[in-house]
Amino acid sequence: MNMITNHLPTEELQALDAAHHLHPFTDGNALAAKGARVITRAQGVTLTDSDGNDYLDAMAGLWCVNIGYGRDSIADVAARQMKELPYYNTFFQTTHVPAIALSQKLAELAPGDLNHTFFSAGGSDANDTNIRLVRHYWAAKGKPEKKVIISRHNAYHGSTMGGASLGGMKPMHAQGGLPIPDIAFIDQPNWYAEGGDLDPAEFGLERARQLEAKIAELGENKVAAFIAEPVQGAGGVVIPPETYWPEIQRICDEHEILLIADEVICGFGRTGNWFGSETFNIRPDVMTIAKGLSSGYAPIGGSMVTDEVAATLNAGGDFNHGYTYSGHPVAAAVALENLRILEEEKIVETVCNETAPYLEEKWMQLGDHPLVGQAGICGMMGSIAMTPDKSARAGFAGGAGQVGLICRDHCFSNGLVMRHVGDRMIISPPLVLTKSDIDTLIDRASKALDLTLKDATDQGLM
Ligand code: PMP
Repeated sequence: MNMITNHLPTEELQALDAAHHLHPFTDGNALAAKGARVITRAQGVTLTDSDGNDYLDAMAGLWCVNIGYGRDSIADVAARQMKELPYYNTFFQTTHVPAIALSQKLAELAPGDLNHTFFSAGGSDANDTNIRLVRHYWAAKGKPEKKVIISRHNAYHGSTMGGASLGGMKPMHAQGGLPIPDIAFIDQPNWYAEGGDLDPAEFGLERARQLEAKIAELGENKVAAFIAEPVQGAGGVVIPPETYWPEIQRICDEHEILLIADEVICGFGRTGNWFGSETFNIRPDVMTIAKGLSSGYAPIGGSMVTDEVAATLNAGGDFNHGYTYSGHPVAAAVALENLRILEEEKIVETVCNETAPYLEEKWMQLGDHPLVGQAGICGMMGSIAMTPDKSARAGFAGGAGQVGLICRDHCFSNGLVMRHVGDRMIISPPLVLTKSDIDTLIDRASKALDLTLKDATDQGLM
């Protein structure tokens, strides 16, 4: 990094940013007019910007900094690895110690017999791998026509051509001719938005059974896999009704298709267990991992598969697929150190037994706020759906997202990073959040909700 640039005044950094940096998921002109927030430092659960303002980061970056910021031991491990072997690949009959150690450690941590990892640099490319992997799997079994992957509307599985095709985000499909062929969709288990008069349990079954209907419609001989996040993250932290996952598991068991659990957000403690599949009693054949795998300290992800899937792939000859940075030694060493911290500091146990129950109690009380139609939480990921009319679960006058944006801005002004998805406010804080941090988070969120209610009323949005 250029240390001189780091010390420029905020306005100059913003101007340089606007001149040369294209941001993800951003309207560039709108951002240039406002100026980007320049984050300069972070420690624990706190971010600091270039004007010296502190924020409690209730999103853990992008759902990833599970162990919190400022871990010296990770920097030490990365420096050591860079000096010893900064890079080598794992193609062409070679391997290296960090990739061996990390894949072995993941086999120990992952549920069931998910004992094999194909590495990527993040979640999107891991899901691209999954598309090719499940199709190669069925071809190796002599069923190359089993190609279709069924996903869900409003799912998020990444931003590459494959990842965005697997995702069910309409604005993403609208750009660049997506989805690619042989991806099909069923509806999401979002009771609050789409449940109508059904009770959540009935609705969960109805949505799960859409999978069975879709398999019948397409023909079981054409379907390779079903992919889903245990809890939809970017879709708005949509926690499925209790009936949903058992029915999905039954359908996957009764039909010859693979179940891919996208654990990019849910993995590594987020839901109060090591994996969301444990929280929801899911037995995936393939599991996508990223984010909390390295707590964001280095870019790394992967596709974990069962013994049976690995054996079939291995019997299928060359898998003509791989990335320069598959199993990158520095990223793998960083991930190993992150997993050591998660284990030795008993972070997942503390979330499960102490902090997540405390957060749940406080978070659910936000459901009593006049602006909140529903509060929901699973471990350390939560949402509140804002509404002008609780009983009707109605949307706001003027369209979705305006009130969400107002609330997000009030959060920022009050030292809290919460994200909005439409008019849902969501959190996914570092797992090291303490009870006192939780009190701060709830105080700031309540204040932001009060201010949002006032603005929405003043602006005639209610
Ligand atoms: N899958 C899920 C469930 C995600 O939430 C994300 C990222 N938010 C991805 C895949 C894509 O991961 P990445 O941004 O690392 O490519």
